[in-house]
Amino acid sequence: MPKESLKNKKNRMEKILKALKTKYPDSKCSLNYESPFQLLVATILSAQCTDERVNKVTKKLFNDFPDVFKMNRLTKEEIGEKIYSTGFYNNKAKSLKNLCKTLIKNYNGKVPTTMEELYKLPGTGRKTANVVLGNAFKIPGMVVDTHVTRIANLLKFVNTKNAVKIEIELEKVVPKQDWTLFSHLLIDHGRAVCIANRPQCLKCMLSENCPSSRRILND
Ligand code: SF4
Repeated sequence: MPKESLKNKKNRMEKILKALKTKYPDSKCSLNYESPFQLLVATILSAQCTDERVNKVTKKLFNDFPDVFKMNRLTKEEIGEKIYSTGFYNNKAKSLKNLCKTLIKNYNGKVPTTMEELYKLPGTGRKTANVVLGNAFKIPGMVVDTHVTRIANLLKFVNTKNAVKIEIELEKVVPKQDWTLFSHLLIDHGRAVCIANRPQCLKCMLSENCPSSRRILND
């Protein structure tokens, strides 16, 4: 496939965004939270775990320990017991304990609002930082998870698995006000239609604008 111009990519993205917004009008973050701190905790717990499972665990966790000061009263071991079923509980408990300590010591218990500060917090990285920026603070953030990585490659907007490079390339073609929503839309599409290893191209509304569409390949 010849190299596609930025202008063409933007045009194609405009059509894809329109189709995705029509198909998934209620697309949003599927983690439950009531504060930036709770979203940060839920996002850390969501590594290698389904959002559904995380929501089950955080329902009780946030009820009993809703803020950083209350959660900080728990030891690492106690946190581990409460989040056990999300997997990798030792690492996650260590991250959450250090997160509480850092937020209290350096930020008076508040979650910072910049990428530079967020991605350096214990247990976080650019992905978690963008989730918090985009959803808790309404500052546009392009979240690159496994669905976004896979579908952005299939749509040929990128040709890499490197999350930072994907973030930079997508930010060039997606309007800034749609960065946060775009990630949610691709995640919804990855769960419903463009499923890993068995994309449903025949019923995909992006087929006409997807260079990887099996429908186009089979025509
Ligand atoms: S056409 Fe197929 S490969 Fe392309 S986005 Fe749709 S399901 Fe995925």
